[in-house]
Amino acid sequence: MKLSRYIKVFPFEKRPGYLLLYSTKKASITLVKEEAFDSIDRGTLSPGNEAMLSELGMVVPDDETEKTEVSGFMDEINRRNPRLNISVILNLDCNFNCIYCYETGMKGKLYMTDETAALLTGFIKERFTPGKNSLNIDFYGGEPLLSAGLIKSISAQMKSFAECRGASYTFTLVTNGSLFRRRIAEDLVSMGLKGVKITMDGPPEIHNACRPFRSGAGSFDTVIRNIQETCDLVNVAVSGNFQKANFGKFPLLMDYLERKGLTPDRIYELKFDPVMNRRAGRKPAADYTDGAMTVNEPWVIRAGTYLRAEVLKRGYRTPKISPSPCQVEITDSFVVNFDGVIYKCPVFIGRDGFAIGDLRNGVRDYTAAYRLGIWKNRECADCEYLPLCFGGCRYMSYVRDGNIDSLDCKRAYLDAALETLVRQDILYGQKKP
Ligand code: SF4
Ligand code: SF4
Repeated sequence: MKLSRYIKVFPFEKRPGYLLLYSTKKASITLVKEEAFDSIDRGTLSPGNEAMLSELGMVVPDDETEKTEVSGFMDEINRRNPRLNISVILNLDCNFNCIYCYETGMKGKLYMTDETAALLTGFIKERFTPGKNSLNIDFYGGEPLLSAGLIKSISAQMKSFAECRGASYTFTLVTNGSLFRRRIAEDLVSMGLKGVKITMDGPPEIHNACRPFRSGAGSFDTVIRNIQETCDLVNVAVSGNFQKANFGKFPLLMDYLERKGLTPDRIYELKFDPVMNRRAGRKPAADYTDGAMTVNEPWVIRAGTYLRAEVLKRGYRTPKISPSPCQVEITDSFVVNFDGVIYKCPVFIGRDGFAIGDLRNGVRDYTAAYRLGIWKNRECADCEYLPLCFGGCRYMSYVRDGNIDSLDCKRAYLDAALETLVRQDILYGQKKP
């Protein structure tokens, strides 16, 4: 057996004579005695250690077979995927006026019509091919709850359609949280609502400055009240967008949540990401440029690892670092805009060259438009981070270059942050959400 190429080896000072191994392929972590580790190269690994390390994906029969297996990873995911996932942008209207909104310039009283919704349900039925057993819709906006009637009518149809096929129907909401009262939550849960993702950008003064209502009034108290009202009915994930100047204040939000009874047992997940800039040269209505251009920026790495530790320290869950390919590579995953135009990722809606069809005419080949398989090159094939990265995020390349012709290489980020992230998971031993 040989050492997997998708392994990172770190020292482990707490137990002298041991090494910390992390597999980027299986997201597995283990401690191994230095002498056992050295015996891998010598070919003298004991059968017990060999079986354990093989199970964790840390030793493999041979290099080339493993490379072939990882290069076929995406095909395998797509071949086995039992799920159809559709993100639906119900409207481009919003009762908030967030300072960094990526839909700025596109927003307005633009709503999906009943006619488009009928085409949508037809599209979903057609794409829910034999072998699928799970149908999920992520409802987005604008603010999806401004289209609550449509959420209900689409869900009623899709629930009975899926159940007739012996499959499950679920949906989620990505919402600003301001309209998510208990009554509506109860209704939606009975129709398949599985989780909501609500954005909170720090403690009150920061959140209110970043995410005000259209009127200019702060939204913090309303959102907190609604989470308190609904978190026993449905999984509420709180995510937040930090900036260079304010990330240090985000622990105050966590303290506030705890004080308000929104303790780790009541919040499904807590996660903070940097605000990303828009593409250079693109003129947003609000000239927002205080975000990051890439996750490789040192301050983003510093801020992200710091906030993740603060989250875990308080006992909240947050996503583990694990293989996470860009959704554009997932065949049975589509984004449908309010007007019926189809994309592969919500952040590309309305951008030239990224529509892949529409509900009337179906989906055309988008291999070139989204540079599928961009990671199939020598540099990525030799990279130990390939299973965590798969060429990165197309949108980040677009922000940087104005096109997606090159990789969004996360090497600098992973070189700097992975060890810390792995150690955080060991230290805080978080349960899988
Ligand atoms: S382009 Fe980026 S944001 Fe869009 S699906 Fe891929 S990783 Fe996600
Ligand atoms: S884009 Fe960079 S980090 Fe990602 S797999 Fe390729 S070489 Fe590795």
